Amino acid sequence: MGQLIGKVAFITGAGSGIGRGIALRLAREGADICIPDIDQEGARMTADLVTQLGRQALVLKANVASHLQIQAAARDCVDRFGRLDIAVANAGIGRGGSVLDMPLKDWQDQIDVNLTGVFLTVQAAAQQMARLGNGGRIVCISSLAALNTSGTMWAYSATKVGVAMMVRGWAQDLGSHRITVNAIGPGVIETPLAAGLAGEPQGAIRSSLETRTPVGRVGQPDDIAGLVNFMAGPDGAFMSGSYVVMDGGLRDSRGSWEPDPKAAEEQQRLFGQAVERRMKMQPLLDDRS
Ligand code: NAD
Repeated sequence: MGQLIGKVAFITGAGSGIGRGIALRLAREGADICIPDIDQEGARMTADLVTQLGRQALVLKANVASHLQIQAAARDCVDRFGRLDIAVANAGIGRGGSVLDMPLKDWQDQIDVNLTGVFLTVQAAAQQMARLGNGGRIVCISSLAALNTSGTMWAYSATKVGVAMMVRGWAQDLGSHRITVNAIGPGVIETPLAAGLAGEPQGAIRSSLETRTPVGRVGQPDDIAGLVNFMAGPDGAFMSGSYVVMDGGLRDSRGSWEPDPKAAEEQQRLFGQAVERRMKMQPLLDDRS
């Protein structure tokens, strides 16, 4: 505990799920946290939790797909805290579908957030780090889907492969500024984004996933946060350009899974909730002014 005292972390999409887990872990280690997110309600909730841990938090309204907004957010972070030591390009979305009828907008939104958004976030943060001259740590959240895909998740996978490859180039590019850049490939982590994959506690989907995962449980945001903490802290100083999978061993054991009627019903319900959440978020995502 306390390995990040005096540091400032800029974490996109920390208003929910994995990003919130990362924010709380880094705050427990002593960092103050900037939270650029399109979802201001979620970001404020994370900020309250950070404050309860005795650290400072700054909520920023920023769409990572907007050059102007993410540049302004990185500037505001430095204006407020005088530094920016750690950046986590975490914000991401998922749009599944068949190649036969995926709307162009679903493809484009994923490219804009998961690929361009990671580029714009890393650019904005690295520019501040290079200007301030204190070095820095950058972590990009890719996915296990950079290695595995399916007949519906191929577009999401394409963006996540891109992230895993970009960090290798950026590690070379930014080394002379004492900035390390790494990527993490989470497996299934229990968050609103992955609700349909992770299922519900004691539900049919969850129990099948637990059986197929060697460590016997679904991942939690804090699992991924621990790895970010390693990459951002003293023990991660010699790591750069890496893509590290953290999936409880699921990669080599997922096999094929045919949902039974109970699981199919659960999946249908969770899918409905995901569509509702997506419709609520879409106008926020479309605002790129
Ligand atoms: P989540 O939906 O719970 O949280 C995503 C957060 O990002 C939300 O707060 C949302 O408002 C924000 N966001 C979305 N688009 C944004 C934009 N354009 N600009 C700013 N903020 C935006 O999702 P999560 O599961 O926590 O996912 C976080 C990251 O982890 C994503 O990149 C995702 O692809 C990746 N990931 C998740 C899993 C999983 O199983 N949950 C697995 C592998 C990778």
